[in-house]
Amino acid sequence: MTEPAFTITRNPAPASDAVRREVLAASTFGQHFTDHMVTIDWTVERGWHDARVEPYGPLTLDPASAVLHYAQEVFEGLKAYRHADGSVHTFRPEQNARRMQASARRLALPELPEDLFLASIRELVEIDEAWVPAAGEGKALYLRPFMIAHENFLGVRPAKTVRYMVIASPVGSYFADPTRPVDIWLSEQYSRAGAGGTGAAKCGGNYAASLLPTQEAYANGCEQVLFLDAQEQTYLEELGGMNIVLVYKDGTVVTPESDSILSGVTRNSVLELMTAAGHRVEQRRISLQEWRDGAASGEIVEAFACGTAAVITPIGTLKAPSFTLTNPTVTEASLSMRIRAQLTGIQNGVEPDAHGWLRQL
Ligand code: PMP
Repeated sequence: MTEPAFTITRNPAPASDAVRREVLAASTFGQHFTDHMVTIDWTVERGWHDARVEPYGPLTLDPASAVLHYAQEVFEGLKAYRHADGSVHTFRPEQNARRMQASARRLALPELPEDLFLASIRELVEIDEAWVPAAGEGKALYLRPFMIAHENFLGVRPAKTVRYMVIASPVGSYFADPTRPVDIWLSEQYSRAGAGGTGAAKCGGNYAASLLPTQEAYANGCEQVLFLDAQEQTYLEELGGMNIVLVYKDGTVVTPESDSILSGVTRNSVLELMTAAGHRVEQRRISLQEWRDGAASGEIVEAFACGTAAVITPIGTLKAPSFTLTNPTVTEASLSMRIRAQLTGIQNGVEPDAHGWLRQL
């Protein structure tokens, strides 16, 4: 397919330099957005068309718009990083493009061709390049591509009119101190996704389902929630917005295998780095009991969460109504912290990109 050219309408009233500097200095997660956004429309008849870059602004949605009722929607999340020489790079964006296609298939939405996804990212980062934070502060420009059913129709069937968009927001770390361990709450009552459900897709409904248990986590002094498999409530799945990885004393790294979790770009990259560093990496079912036994015996020495927003965050304690599991204290020498330094080093251009993961603007 030929790529539709993007029509560009510049924002006639972009944020002033002073306002942009203030937003970049704060870089709070997902609160402030850049001057532009990308939109591409899709209809059954025309396919993808009208690719455009426009001033950032509210949408006009008909109250009957299908997305508002049946949540036919998918999204992605990735970052653009500035290097010390001023150049701007995204990290494995084709992985996000392919995952969005897989998510779209599950939600009966049309697949956006990979080239068009990559072009949409490039167009937005290029026009809003001034919003990519300076190198060296652990900040980045977070990109949020998403796709919605855009048909005004209350029948329950796949929409015949769809809209894809990309917005961008300068961000710092998701957690205040990214190396400080987070406490997580075990959701015993609620599941995030079941077998044959939408757990492997990045769709809004999965996140809606995680909010009540997350609220429970907050009420119990935790920042994230851990879900077990829906069928047996036995095996680890993932956190509300991150994958989970455990490290054994002998250096073996284990992470859940499941059809109902998101295939995280961060997790996949971490596993590749660990494999390259000579670690045995296992993707398999992991029971909660295995973690509890391993933590009690000292065989499991680290547990961490990983995702685009927070990169790698050590897990301090796992709290449940009936027990608390406490992990050993993390130091700079811990595997998770060394891999974190390597991964952020690659992303920020201070470590060699041996795997060829960066895409320069
Ligand atoms: N699981 C869930 C549920 C997530 O929302 C995310 C964040 N996208 C992840 C895992 C991690 O994925 P990634 O490393 O691609 O950000």
